Amino acid sequence: MRVVLKLGTSVLTAGTDRLHRPRLVDLLRDIAAVRTAGHEVVLVTSGAVLAGWEALGFPPRDRTLAEKQLLAAVGQGRLMHLYASIAELYGVPVAQVLLTAGDFRDRTRYLNARTTLNGCLTRGVLPIINENDAVATAQLKVGDNDTLSAFVANLVEADLLVILTDAPGLYTADPRTDPDASLIPVVERVTPEVWALAGGAGSHRGTGGMHTKIQAAEIATRAGTPVVIAPGDAEQALPRLLNGEDLGTRFLAHGSRLEARKRWILAEIAAGRVTLDAGAARAIRERGGSLLPAGITAVEGDFRRGQTVRLLAPDGTEIARGLTRYPAADLTRIKGHHSRDIEGILGFTYGPEVVHRDDLVRL
Ligand code: GLU
Repeated sequence: MRVVLKLGTSVLTAGTDRLHRPRLVDLLRDIAAVRTAGHEVVLVTSGAVLAGWEALGFPPRDRTLAEKQLLAAVGQGRLMHLYASIAELYGVPVAQVLLTAGDFRDRTRYLNARTTLNGCLTRGVLPIINENDAVATAQLKVGDNDTLSAFVANLVEADLLVILTDAPGLYTADPRTDPDASLIPVVERVTPEVWALAGGAGSHRGTGGMHTKIQAAEIATRAGTPVVIAPGDAEQALPRLLNGEDLGTRFLAHGSRLEARKRWILAEIAAGRVTLDAGAARAIRERGGSLLPAGITAVEGDFRRGQTVRLLAPDGTEIARGLTRYPAADLTRIKGHHSRDIEGILGFTYGPEVVHRDDLVRL
């Protein structure tokens, strides 16, 4: 199973004012254990601002964006250093990936981030993601790591998003003030009633609170990824969840990830047209195969990598729509050629397929 694990500042501090080293050891041991069991893990972590605050000797709290950016810049390296040194004890190599809103909006950057993250997973590297706080301006920020983790879950097409936090899950009322409050084990859909349970922001250390977690759950479940909000202080929360144990609150996905992806491809405006030869058209029509450059006879439009293109049969009828891995200019040069020649012609390759079968919807 491919899982995105989001760790909030309150989990990393274990209720203290500092990054709690023993807690980090426990979390990384759990991550190493589920990796050994065959799962893939992508970590989304907060804690940079806190680590910076700790490093500078706890200066008075100033909530301006500039101050937070400064603290994050100081803390991000220290946070990574801690992760890397503890992960090394478990033989887990790590990578740092800093993302911000623009990286999800710009198709080329989006695809490049996806390639890097998939590459990490293929090579057994644990990607550790945070928002690129030092450069993210107020308008161009994802803003909180719950939402960031949902975007990342979409990006890597995760099978599960696990948000560990300082609450046991979603409650029917605030358990701190209402003795009758009870845990909601399963949420089928994020309805207005569910939103109403979210209340305000949580602890003073992180950015989130239940509101951003519900928002994350809504984003991920819509794209086909179920979400669990579970207590970060529960022993071995991650291994237990991946073993199917019920912990915290589980939000069910709407339909499959592939269906969600295909809906999204069809919702895009096609930016170009690619005409196929009879063999390629048949392979797509009959088997839903991937499109290779060898099967392309003509390229029209000025599209970029990651945009939607129409795939046309030799007689001009549209048979499918899909996301192209090559921009129009490159495609014009490699059309009709075998995939093994791509690198020789372009000087690089984005892989053998022009449109991968998972990125293609037959019409
Ligand atoms: N990116 C921030 C940090 O690392 C955290 C944002 C959040 O708490 O959601 O400190």
